[in-house]
Amino acid sequence: MRIFTSAIKGNVYVLDGDSHRHVAYALRSRVGDKITLCPQDGFDYIGVIEKITADRTTVRIAEKTRSLGEPDIKLTVCFGIPHKSEKIDLIAQKMTELGVAYMQPFTSKFVQASAKSVRVDRLARICEEAAKQCGRGVIPAVMPPVAFDEVCAEIKNHDLAIFAYEEEKVVSLKTVLRECAEKSSIRSVVAVVGAEGGFAPEEAAKAADCGARCVSLGSRILRAETANMALAAAIMYEFDEWSAKKRS
Ligand code: SAH
Repeated sequence: MRIFTSAIKGNVYVLDGDSHRHVAYALRSRVGDKITLCPQDGFDYIGVIEKITADRTTVRIAEKTRSLGEPDIKLTVCFGIPHKSEKIDLIAQKMTELGVAYMQPFTSKFVQASAKSVRVDRLARICEEAAKQCGRGVIPAVMPPVAFDEVCAEIKNHDLAIFAYEEEKVVSLKTVLRECAEKSSIRSVVAVVGAEGGFAPEEAAKAADCGARCVSLGSRILRAETANMALAAAIMYEFDEWSAKKRS
């Protein structure tokens, strides 16, 4: 059982409010049960439930270990807002499982959904659930939507920017990743994926001007949610985030 908490000092931590109710009532935990507390500081605090009262659960911490669920590479995924909100939910959940650090929804020329369809609070809950389930040490953040120009500005803040462009016929994702993944200087990567309507040629050109590498994901057109998953998975694989890490 994993619970995200505030900062942990000392070897006793008291859960109250929603996290207490979740542990004590929803999960029906008992004194003596093992629990992992994640204050999102890069470590997991493994403890045992010492006491449960009506409004508090007290945990005694036995061990502090590096959080293995966090990739070394910081991946930001910028996605064009899909038309259906279920697809936004799916992207948030799957990106969390794949180890993405930040998600940035955006509007662009062919995005039909409005920025209002992105409910950041709801997505934060989806990410927290997914982060607990898959064993992450940090809940990834979903940013409020921005316009495409801001995505282009964001490109410059990363060591590598990959722009999935359905009209790219020459450069493949593999070429770019094989060239970059061995470079230890690359610590942060941004991936940009369009919505159902795809990108206008001038948008791809602008991203390339800002330093993004436009790539093909193959000769089939993937749905937006598939493209997000496939691209994030391929980046994580190529940066060697698909090997089992050991606790040190
Ligand atoms: N309406 C567009 C397809 C959009 S697919 C068309 O018919 O051409 C949604 C997004 O997924 C695209 O903008 C792109 O970012 C990504 N994508 C899907 N398939 C891709 C491919 N084969 N190569 C590169 N990007 C792809």
